Amino acid sequence: MKKVTLHDKTFEEYISREKIQTRIDELAIEIDKDYADKTITMVGNLTGAFIIMADLCRHIHTPVDVKFVKYSSYEGMATTHVVKERMGFGGMDLSGRHVMIVEDIIDTGLTLHYLLDLLKHKGAASIKVFSLLLKPDSVQKEVQVDYVGFDIPNDFVVGYGLDYDGMGRDLDSIYKLSS
Ligand code: 5GP
Repeated sequence: MKKVTLHDKTFEEYISREKIQTRIDELAIEIDKDYADKTITMVGNLTGAFIIMADLCRHIHTPVDVKFVKYSSYEGMATTHVVKERMGFGGMDLSGRHVMIVEDIIDTGLTLHYLLDLLKHKGAASIKVFSLLLKPDSVQKEVQVDYVGFDIPNDFVVGYGLDYDGMGRDLDSIYKLSS
């Protein structure tokens, strides 16, 4: 089994690069069908979403307008339960747009809930959510996630954009904390 050490912790491979690619291919086909004849305004939530955004927008054939925001609720390995705006929607014109929020992972759902609340007032024609990972047992806020790569248990994971205190985002598969 592939293992990696980041700072003081050891992580083991959990979802391989091949599995991730296969799943992105499947979801890209679904997205292309759902958005036929439309343009998607993809809004990635940094920093974790940068890898999956790059993959997703190259796998789908639907035209995309790529944008980023940065809202976070995590510090180290735990949620702070407070969502902080680091780079907001600001003057982004989303009226009449088909917006797709792209997240790396949904844990409590607080960040997404906050984002969707802000988006309500932006006049988008439609709003959908894509997340590479979802922790169903951890979700506290009711949020609709339209496209999910993988449901996972409440383990702390890194790789494919996700970090442990700044490290591990570059790993090309997903790793979980070794027990
Ligand atoms: P939520 O607001 O849904 O609780 O948390 C979402 C954010 O928390 C994600 O965008 C991510 O930054 C962080 N997060 C949640 N779970 C994990 C995890 O298992 N690993 C890492 N690296 N970040 C996580």
